[in-house]
Amino acid sequence: MEIVVIGHGMVGHKFLEALADSGNDALHVTVLCEEPRAAYARVHLTEFFSGKSADDLSLVQEGFFERSGYALKLDARAVSIDRDAHTVTASTGDVLSYDKLVLATGSYPFVPPIEGKDRDGCFVYRTIEDLEAMQAFAKGSKTSTVVDGGLLGLEAAKALRDLGLETHVVEFAPRLMAVQVDDGDGRVLRGKIEELGVTVHTGKNTLNIGDGEGAQNRMNFVDDTHLDTDMIVFSASIHPRDDIARVARLEIGARGGIVIDDACCTSDADIYTIGKCALWKGQFFGLVAPGYDMARIVAKQIIGQEAAFAGADMSTKLKLMGVDVASIGDAHGKTPGSRSYQYSDERKQVYKKLVACPIAASSCSTA
Ligand SMILES: Cc1cc2nc3c(=O)[nH]c(=O)nc-3n(C[C@H](O)[C@H](O)[C@H](O)COP(=O)(O)OP(=O)(O)OC[C@H]3O[C@@H](n4cnc5c(N)ncnc54)[C@H](O)[C@@H]3O)c2cc1C
Repeated sequence: MEIVVIGHGMVGHKFLEALADSGNDALHVTVLCEEPRAAYARVHLTEFFSGKSADDLSLVQEGFFERSGYALKLDARAVSIDRDAHTVTASTGDVLSYDKLVLATGSYPFVPPIEGKDRDGCFVYRTIEDLEAMQAFAKGSKTSTVVDGGLLGLEAAKALRDLGLETHVVEFAPRLMAVQVDDGDGRVLRGKIEELGVTVHTGKNTLNIGDGEGAQNRMNFVDDTHLDTDMIVFSASIHPRDDIARVARLEIGARGGIVIDDACCTSDADIYTIGKCALWKGQFFGLVAPGYDMARIVAKQIIGQEAAFAGADMSTKLKLMGVDVASIGDAHGKTPGSRSYQYSDERKQVYKKLVACPIAASSCSTA
């Protein structure tokens, strides 16, 4: 059986490992990887700034692609899928035939369409190449700003602070990590982040970016204030990479994402989708663990075993900056009839909230 995989990120590689573990040697697998290097631990990307090399972050065991039946093509972007002919055309000119196609194209960072977003010093935070470019630019910089006060934004802020830059976080919402925490949590979190030397600006809507005074760039906000900064890192939100699936006329969600069923199958029975680009029952999964579940499920299907995706726990925990923030379940108490109980100690900077829901299990958030 010929299998083509588009995307060699964390989930794409987990799929290959699961397939290889099955011991089925009648499979021929070709992987198209748009990046110049094989899969690496994107979740540990920030460790690149603290001295880890691209090799340290690699997920590919030595010799993995030497085994027969598995081929990896680097710097090779899939540009189109011909569903009738069962072929994929790559940017390298290769045309690959498939019996089963697996889309593992992940996501891309959304940069708001503001004037000046492409100026020198503006970056996104997704690949090793992004970090290399930031590291080089930081050498001639004093100040940096991250656009996003969410999990990823705070992680990027910590990395910039560690590069020795004066660091700001600009957040549109009235508090940090607005998805996961409420106002009480947000206040405590802000205090803790500012103690680490990162200046937080909430409720800021960027109008445009122009020349700065004493810094490379100036962010002008809608409320007539501004911030001068050398570097700007956009980390505001991620969007599923569904471009190739759209062109191939697979079913796409209203707000993007490749629609899959419980078997991780798309609207074409010979095409599966796994990881961050997948939309299951109207839900995206930004964390890696649900993507790994999907990868194992599709590997099973391909070797003829039954398996179904059943959703995932989306609990989140801030993993850097020495600040403990955890959010589990319905932390905002949106479930009808839910009641919330709070504990707050401003002196010790502790905030805990328990949401008791009438039917499902309780939820909580703490900082
Ligand atoms: C800094 C950072 C920290 C994170 N921390 C955490 C964390 O702590 N916990 C957690 O659960 N998650 C975390 N995440 C999210 C996690 O990295 C993702 O959930 C995971 O990478 C998703 O894997 P994926 O394979 O679906 O997508 P990706 O890792 O994005 O891989 C998709 C790959 O497909 C390639 N591709 C796209 N289109 C094509 C094409 N047409 N042809 C060829 N290749 C293509 C892309 O270039 C990419 O290499 C973090 C992400 C970042 C950026």
